[in-house]
Amino acid sequence: MSYKAEYIWIDGTEPTAMLRSKTRILADGADLPTWGFDGSSTNQAPGEHSDCVLKPVFSCPDPIRGGDHKLVLCEVYLPDGTPHPTNTRAKLVPIAESFAEQESLFGIEQEYTFFQAGRPLGFPETGFPAPQGPYYCGVGADEVFGREIVEQHLDACLAAGLPISGINAEVMPGQWEFQVGPAGPLEVSDALWVARWLLYRIAEEHNVAATLDPKPAKGDWNGAGAHTNFSTKAMRESYAPIITAAESLGGRIKEHIAVYGYGIEERLTGLHETAPWTEFSYGVGDRGASVRIPWQVEVDQKGYMEDRRPNANCDPYEVTRLLVDTCCTALKN
Ligand code: ADP
Ligand code: MN
Ligand code: MN
Ligand code: MN
Ligand code: MN
Repeated sequence: MSYKAEYIWIDGTEPTAMLRSKTRILADGADLPTWGFDGSSTNQAPGEHSDCVLKPVFSCPDPIRGGDHKLVLCEVYLPDGTPHPTNTRAKLVPIAESFAEQESLFGIEQEYTFFQAGRPLGFPETGFPAPQGPYYCGVGADEVFGREIVEQHLDACLAAGLPISGINAEVMPGQWEFQVGPAGPLEVSDALWVARWLLYRIAEEHNVAATLDPKPAKGDWNGAGAHTNFSTKAMRESYAPIITAAESLGGRIKEHIAVYGYGIEERLTGLHETAPWTEFSYGVGDRGASVRIPWQVEVDQKGYMEDRRPNANCDPYEVTRLLVDTCCTALKN
């Protein structure tokens, strides 16, 4: 007997990479082999040296095909065995290892927007829906658009064994959020990429496109972010390390913004529950700050902080790498 393995990888599309996948039939019990693909079709290689290598790094049950079928997330390598320049996971591995003793945990809030017929799901054919207000965590056909897809996606993530921790409707019609974590940097990032793939794949069946566009509707509508909640063991045990970690981010603003997702200047304007991307601030319960310390964390004098800056279209391998690098370096000193 055999099973289907869906090999998933991150391509070289600029400015924001996309997911690709293809299917391989494997004999029951067989290990997941390395595989290859045509890098000239994914902006990852020139036509005359088009071979790229897929190395499986994470696999889980395939909730779409069911049975013994699998989803297989891969890193991309060059034929000479070195990581492909687009392989950001390979850059995270050594950083995660070198600060492993601090036991970093992440919870990422992935916001996204459904589109159909060229406009957000729930937007009328012409003009705009009623202004923001009733949609966030709403209920009812006037407020909520696409719930059947969202529920199907949640069930799929659970069936795949991904560490998904919740969902909610967001402030704009057709806009939603799911959260993954808390989990370590590699685990949360692998899970987020697979959860994104499942979202696209399930929405496809409904003839809907899910997008991570950070500013899907121009004007007085919230953008889409990927708030990244972060803690180390020390932060989970006392308050001072939370302040140390928050302050450390103020020293590396540009480096962080550079990998927090294309188009971040359009989203972090200082309006719509954001802080301007050029400045750094943190505060307790402050949704207008770059970093929020939840009020409960101040009460408990321990816990985590929320970096509100990452865009919905960020690469979690890069975001978690920089957060670990900046904060764990500060906490070590
Ligand atoms: P918000 O109030 O900002 O909408 P959410 O409930 O959507 O917050 O998301 C909070 C996220 O923080 C969840 O993914 C949760 O798993 C994560 N989280 C909770 N505790 C920690 C922690 N100690 N370290 C890192 N992440 C955490
Ligand atoms: Mn072919
Ligand atoms: Mn949230
Ligand atoms: Mn949100
Ligand atoms: Mn949040």
